[in-house]
Amino acid sequence: MKRKDWIVTEYAARPAGKPNRCFYCHSLIGESHASECVIRNRTVVMDFTIRMVMDVPESWKDEDVEFRYNKGSWCADNLIEMIVREEDGCLCPHVQAKFVREATPDDEEKWGLVRVDDLQS
Ligand SMILES: [Zn+2]
Repeated sequence: MKRKDWIVTEYAARPAGKPNRCFYCHSLIGESHASECVIRNRTVVMDFTIRMVMDVPESWKDEDVEFRYNKGSWCADNLIEMIVREEDGCLCPHVQAKFVREATPDDEEKWGLVRVDDLQS
């Protein structure tokens, strides 16, 4: 989801740049950031798939395993502890990121962590 106006504020100035301009696109405070400026962001919907190995009861069928993790009482927050691999390196070899679509206001509301209109400029 894009927003219409990206007005340069003091947020975009950096100590190594001029105090009255965006460090990245050099637009003046009060003007719009250039269309290619990295300060301009949009919200998108992403899927992150984690391929992992875990143990399940030997007697469970494939659909039992999926039921347990998709519709059972198991909480997906448990994944946070399950993916910590302190001695086995980072997750990069096991994660696939996929762009799904541009975010909508409903997507931003459901996820609740980022709204394009609240980003600093
Ligand atoms: Zn800028």
